[in-house]
Amino acid sequence: MTASIATNQTILVVGGGISGMTAALEAAECGKQVILVEKTPALGGRTARLYRYFPKMCHPTCGLEINLRRLKQNRNVRLMTMTEVTAVSGSRGDYAVTLKVAPRFVNENCTACGKCGEAVTAEVPNPWNYGLDKMKAAYLPHNMAHPQRFVIDPSIVGTPEGEKAKAACPVGAVDLDMKEESVTLQVGAVIWATGWRPYDANKIQPYGYDRFPNVITSLEFERLADPQGPTGGKILRPGDGKEAKNIAFIQCAGSRDENHLRHCSRICCMASLKQTQYVREAYGEATSAPSTASRTSTRWCRRTRRSASSRARWPRSSRTRKTAIRSCTASIPRATTATPPSMTWWCWPWAWNPRSPV
Ligand SMILES: Cc1cc2nc3c(=O)[nH]c(=O)nc-3n(C[C@H](O)[C@H](O)[C@H](O)COP(=O)(O)OP(=O)(O)OC[C@H]3O[C@@H](n4cnc5c(N)ncnc54)[C@H](O)[C@@H]3O)c2cc1C
Ligand code: SF4
Ligand code: SF4
Repeated sequence: MTASIATNQTILVVGGGISGMTAALEAAECGKQVILVEKTPALGGRTARLYRYFPKMCHPTCGLEINLRRLKQNRNVRLMTMTEVTAVSGSRGDYAVTLKVAPRFVNENCTACGKCGEAVTAEVPNPWNYGLDKMKAAYLPHNMAHPQRFVIDPSIVGTPEGEKAKAACPVGAVDLDMKEESVTLQVGAVIWATGWRPYDANKIQPYGYDRFPNVITSLEFERLADPQGPTGGKILRPGDGKEAKNIAFIQCAGSRDENHLRHCSRICCMASLKQTQYVREAYGEATSAPSTASRTSTRWCRRTRRSASSRARWPRSSRTRKTAIRSCTASIPRATTATPPSMTWWCWPWAWNPRSPV
């Protein structure tokens, strides 16, 4: 087996999230040749889109910066963004992999000066913020994006907007003639690190994600709390832009549910506890607001409701806070006629990406 693997030392890592970056770096730092492919225009995956991450509650940019520095310094890693695997054949130690490379319409000369973005007026939904806002159709995916290279959205290619972007570029980096390419590689091993994708929240009808603008997902909540996000870090209700003073966290939404996903996501208990800290940061520990907010949230949480006396045990600061947060690890909210909280977050389950795209 060793001899077979040794016939080709190149390792293909599919997925440029924290797992794929780590795998690529560890292998490259052991002297292996690594090709890291990522389907979006930049590395980082979903972790990079969190406001902060446990256990240390750092901003993801911190961890990302360390990994990017290692990556830039290591000549053994070749990065291919906007690239997906379309076929894998062969056997252990000798695989033929076909990659599809989508056009960025911007070449390596780009200095990320931003002039193309200033020139265009067309806007597209911003995937970085899960579509909560819009961005220019000539864009840098995010401030820390690696590679630091703009992208021209295909929707403006062949339009006057695309020509405006091209004319604005001082270094001739906009190339509207780029086409999709297919590349075939021989590699000795493939590491599949394509992460997870969110479950479609519209399918969980009782919580009204598809009907009520103030019902949001945990990932959208991360973007709301982030100063780089659509609200500049203010936790505002998407429905009317007002401060979200009462917040209910719905746990296990769609998870551990035979109508949706049977498994526990194993992350959202922790994520909701983390997000309570965001709310404390935003609104402080104690305010003059009445504690009705806390009562509202208890109606939504079977477990907390059952132990109503536990309210007496909550720290006073929590009882008088403007924003009530309760996370109940194993409860399904009761149907209630009570006024719902002004914004509802839920523990959003996800499905793992398929093991193979082919
Ligand atoms: C609300 C919430 C809060 C969280 N908070 C924390 C936290 O505080 N701390 C923490 O440690 N974890 C947290 N997590 C979990 C964290 O998001 C995951 O552990 C992390 O994203 C896993 O990284 P990954 O690289 O495995 O996957 P991902 O982050 O999903 O990255 C996968 C990458 O692969 C790419 N990809 C997918 N398919 C393909 C393909 N076919 N070809 C090429 N590329 C592909 C994707 O574009 C993506 O860049 C949280 C999760 C949620 C939902
Ligand atoms: S494509 Fe040109 S104009 Fe746009 S950011 Fe890059 S260098 Fe600047
Ligand atoms: S809230 Fe906790 S128990 Fe429920 S699915 Fe999420 S991680 Fe699992």
